Amino acid sequence: MRFVAKQPREGINVSKTHPLVEAGTLVLGLTAILVIVVVALIFVIEVALRFVSVEQEAELFEGWLPEDLVTVSPADERLQETQLLVDRLVRHWPESPYRFRVEIDDSEIANAMALPGGLIIVTQGLLEQVESENELAFVLGHELGHFRNRDHLRALGRGVVLSVFFAAMTGGDVAGIGVMAADLTLRGFSRRQETRADEFGLTVVNAEYGHVDEAWRLFERWNTEDSSLDDFVSYLSTHPDSGERVVDIKNHARNEGWSLQGDITELDW
Ligand SMILES: [Zn+2]
Repeated sequence: MRFVAKQPREGINVSKTHPLVEAGTLVLGLTAILVIVVVALIFVIEVALRFVSVEQEAELFEGWLPEDLVTVSPADERLQETQLLVDRLVRHWPESPYRFRVEIDDSEIANAMALPGGLIIVTQGLLEQVESENELAFVLGHELGHFRNRDHLRALGRGVVLSVFFAAMTGGDVAGIGVMAADLTLRGFSRRQETRADEFGLTVVNAEYGHVDEAWRLFERWNTEDSSLDDFVSYLSTHPDSGERVVDIKNHARNEGWSLQGDITELDW
């Protein structure tokens, strides 16, 4: 008997599903896996944070500056004055484990941020827009609040995870991760974290001046002045809406029984 090999049916290896659908399923599946990995890593960081003491953090980041930061001259009097103001405010947080360092970013765009190890960065643009020491004290007190709640580390951890993830996805350069992580760090705070930072900021301002007058003035101006200012205030993209914030600040002060009126201290520059 002669064996006649049967030809396999046409298309035996071809799935009945349309190739585009299959490709789509694959991409979706991979994306889902990656998202799960990122979420898991963020969770791990949240847990790990509980084991990193503030002392370890301060030691790890001592002297650290973001690579892309351009600072003003160390002889700039605003730098010394702002550092002195932070030192005064911190006296009202005696258990603080940080040695806070202030740096002034050369940028004309108003912003302020809290970075690991007790580094507080304010931009030249912000210093140009504050009109009294009381306004500046609240901005600084707010950043101190982020340190106290360790928001800055949580956001940094998230920034690192996300930037490693993007570098992996895009085949990007891992060396750029530091800058990108710092960048993402600045965006990450939730409304609740911001509110708690505001409340802490008000506490130290009230302790320092005996009232909280003008703590909100900068935001009031940003809220009412013409929108041409918007391009110069990146602070607002990383902080709550100015209008609501003014209301919340005043309400919190009233609830605490703090005076909303008092002597205003001029800036020295
Ligand atoms: Zn904030």
